[in-house]
Amino acid sequence: MVRKADQSSSAIKGAGACLKTCAPNPSPVCVKNCHLPTGEGTVDVMWQVASVTVPMSRVELIVNGEIRESVAVAPEEGSGHWSVKVDKSSWLALLVRGHCADKPEIIAAHSSPVMITVDGSRMLAAADAVTILEQIEGTLAYLDTVGTRAEDVAYKRMRLVLTSAHRTLHIQMHQLGYYHGHTPVEDHPEHH
Ligand SMILES: [Zn+2]
Repeated sequence: MVRKADQSSSAIKGAGACLKTCAPNPSPVCVKNCHLPTGEGTVDVMWQVASVTVPMSRVELIVNGEIRESVAVAPEEGSGHWSVKVDKSSWLALLVRGHCADKPEIIAAHSSPVMITVDGSRMLAAADAVTILEQIEGTLAYLDTVGTRAEDVAYKRMRLVLTSAHRTLHIQMHQLGYYHGHTPVEDHPEHH
């Protein structure tokens, strides 16, 4: 079912003012996380950007790490609106590109994510899951090799936090069928 943001459901109304970023530099971000009761909803994304430093070129909507919308914007200020269909728990963020004269385009600003939770749908994007898993593995490797060794109890406690987070995430990734690689040490039969 598609529900419009202006319908009377309070949950959807709450989603109306979800993503509102004020200015890329500095970047005060006024955001509001939302919750959709079930199924599919539409979230109104309203944005406004201004810059006194790097001239802006584009504004993009990032949904779960991927570009969903992209529009050209005037160098100093701009605003816009998107209606975004959300059918699973997602995070949304606004990315502002820009460049100074004769310089390549850069990411001039990036808002914090706005979390949209949908009942019955876990907040776990495939791309994020792989990155987080790799970061946990990297942190474990750091702890075991170059990191300053803490006293034994603290070291074991830190290691336990990391290994249990890794296990939890890894199990979820298998349940959701998210592809991921393994180091030979951590390989396991489910991948073959
Ligand atoms: Zn696995």
